[in-house]
Amino acid sequence: MTMPDFCAAYGCSNHRSLETRTRGITFHVFPKTGERRRQWEVALRRDGFVSSGRTLLCSEHFRSDFKHSKSGSNKKHNHF
Ligand SMILES: [Zn+2]
Repeated sequence: MTMPDFCAAYGCSNHRSLETRTRGITFHVFPKTGERRRQWEVALRRDGFVSSGRTLLCSEHFRSDFKHSKSGSNKKHNHF
């Protein structure tokens, strides 16, 4: 049972590999409950998305959606 770790975000093809590791990308398990989970679901931008037992999001999405710093004005269109 060695499934590769893929990012579940729409339009994102990152998966855990030497390449992403070199780029400093890390993978994070989807929270099961709580406010953070809701935020993640928004970040995924997938209608009716239901996370399975093991849904991962890569750190690429944390920069824009989880830190309200630089480009906070245009939340509808980020790097996706
Ligand atoms: Zn990703």
